[in-house]
Amino acid sequence: MTMKITSSKLILITSVFLVLFGNLTFVENVLKVYPISFDNSLFLVSLLILFSCINVIIFSLVCFNRTLKPILIVILLISSFAAYFMDTYHVVIDGFMIDNIIKTDKNEVLDLLSLKQALYFLLLGVLPSLFIYKANIIKISFKKSVLSNLILFSGALLLSIVLILSMSNFYASFFREHKPLRFYANPSYYIYSSIKYINGLFKSSSTALKPIALDAQIVSDNKYRKLIVFVVGETARADHFSLNGYNRKTNPLLEKENILNFDNVWSCGTSTAHSVPCMFSVYGRSDFSKIKGVSTENILDLLKRVGVNVLWLDNNSSSKGVADRIGEIDYKSSSINPICDIECRDEGMLANLQSYINSHPTGDIFIVLHQMGNHGPAYFKRYPKAFEKFTPICETNQLEQCTKKEIINTYDNALLYTDYFLSQTIKLLKTNDNQFETALLYVSDHGESLGENNLYLHGLPYMIAPDEQIHVPMIMWFGNHFEKNEINIEQLKQKSHKKLSHDNIFHTLLGLMGIESKVYDKNMDIIEHKNDH
Ligand SMILES: [Zn+2]
Repeated sequence: MTMKITSSKLILITSVFLVLFGNLTFVENVLKVYPISFDNSLFLVSLLILFSCINVIIFSLVCFNRTLKPILIVILLISSFAAYFMDTYHVVIDGFMIDNIIKTDKNEVLDLLSLKQALYFLLLGVLPSLFIYKANIIKISFKKSVLSNLILFSGALLLSIVLILSMSNFYASFFREHKPLRFYANPSYYIYSSIKYINGLFKSSSTALKPIALDAQIVSDNKYRKLIVFVVGETARADHFSLNGYNRKTNPLLEKENILNFDNVWSCGTSTAHSVPCMFSVYGRSDFSKIKGVSTENILDLLKRVGVNVLWLDNNSSSKGVADRIGEIDYKSSSINPICDIECRDEGMLANLQSYINSHPTGDIFIVLHQMGNHGPAYFKRYPKAFEKFTPICETNQLEQCTKKEIINTYDNALLYTDYFLSQTIKLLKTNDNQFETALLYVSDHGESLGENNLYLHGLPYMIAPDEQIHVPMIMWFGNHFEKNEINIEQLKQKSHKKLSHDNIFHTLLGLMGIESKVYDKNMDIIEHKNDH
């Protein structure tokens, strides 16, 4: 017979356990802002008690007789994952991250699994869950459990108020000036983010799709149809492109092409799930939100309505809802993608394009290629062996087991493959340049941290994201007809150092496709057109 325990005690023990063992990164970050001293140590202890109280408050609201054990166990298991990701990659589990996790496919999950993660799961998740599962709870009526939770709730709330008031100067700076610190509190921050996320889903599913630019029409008097390829890059950071001055030749092929390079471009978000819908959206970064993104038509809907042939090929996780009404073709499977080794390659998306172009004899053509690019942490999987130019490489998804140099070598090799992929895309456009006005636009969705300040991967909240995660490469290439008849190339060259962002994409694409509408903002179009419409 195990010892009997009250439900209140179990809630208290779990709350304190989570704070003590699942918050390494939180404590580390707090200590960076409040280095060890007598006063600061007192504050740290006070903070840990406060976050235990917050846990007690949350649990007392949802853990009654029958829900007690399942809820505590689920929270412990999820928190062990959250602790692992925060301690290993210093990521924050916010709404964007939750969106990423939900939209991640099984291959990406396999990329991430590791021994260290298994240990976290066992020690912080499974073992304490077993303890809770076996606990012999003293049975009380539902009424009594409500009453005892009320006592817990009030006690924790009162203690929190006393703690905050007794060190109010510390808490004022903690809550006002050091907002990002609480992003690392486990589990309270991810619980908060999840509620916000679910709330958002309900809001977005209850709103109908809002049409945009119903007045849009193609105004083109050219004898050539347009063929435009938009490559949505993945996790490429601007400062690792040799086109932008990186000291390694990561763009050997693109440097030989007649391209326009833009070295001062900034992403809309720090994750695929945020940046990709944002760059196709009529909204700019400052007023874009996930809800607005899914509940408003994007530029693809608009192009389709005016009669453009729109195609989305995806070698990434998905179009993140952008191509929902267009349809997208998944190139991650060898049944469609003819170029697969350890995984299916971006180049495979080009294989069937010529027959697509040939089979659409009327109307302009707009093609989106969504790359796998430099998706981390398993950079070594992102390129065929022939592109392994920078060595030694990091041949594991456990970035902490590799040196910084190995990680960067591997990442740069993957960029070399993107350089090759883009030059092959240009080659395809060149073979169609006699019949079409051809153009390529490439921009990455966000950047990547490669160990600067101990940060890895991406996905930090935009307000605290380092430049490495939001400064992205962008290039354009134009075929002969475009250059001669449509575009003011000299004026465009002058913009190569101008500060630009994903906000410009929507209007620049409208301009390129020759579409007139009230929603088109000429000032946001990077390109100046010769026959102004
Ligand atoms: Zn991405």
